Amino acid sequence: MFSLRYFTGLFRRFRSRVLRREVEIIGQCKLCGRCCQDILLGECGKWLTSKRKFSEICERDSRYNRFRITGRDEAGRLVFSCSEMGEDNFCTCYETRLPLCKSYPAKSLYYQGGSLRPDCGFSFKAMTFRDIYMRRKRGRISPFSEVLRQEQEQAGKK
Ligand code: SF4
Ligand code: SF4
Repeated sequence: MFSLRYFTGLFRRFRSRVLRREVEIIGQCKLCGRCCQDILLGECGKWLTSKRKFSEICERDSRYNRFRITGRDEAGRLVFSCSEMGEDNFCTCYETRLPLCKSYPAKSLYYQGGSLRPDCGFSFKAMTFRDIYMRRKRGRISPFSEVLRQEQEQAGKK
């Protein structure tokens, strides 16, 4: 079944392609460590919903054993915490953390319909159809404004 998140991701990919603008990641990390507490894990572009699937991944790659299932979100996806997070909210294996940790927050999260925590220091910045419309509108107005300015200058010289 397709979720709202699926359609959000689809729309974002479509818009980005039509406008030829990639989403930007702006801001900086506030080192709060919250993204290491409520983690969604994915494989092949799909979020994990099956405990069996997660066990298979752990068998293939023992580095995933650091993750503990803490529950499910409203869409039924498994939510994990990481046992490598220290009491001070800092990663205890920073140098050898997983690629998914190094690339967080990745643009792929945005294009899969995901969002960042509201209190995260990073945010996604994407060009919208409205932005383009307003830009073009301003573009149409500005030559007129320029002509008006020139006319006023001319009038002032007389
Ligand atoms: S390995 Fe480190 S950076 Fe990655 S989720 Fe765990 S605590 Fe966070
Ligand atoms: S939630 Fe955002 S601000 Fe907090 S540690 Fe993770 S990336 Fe940094």
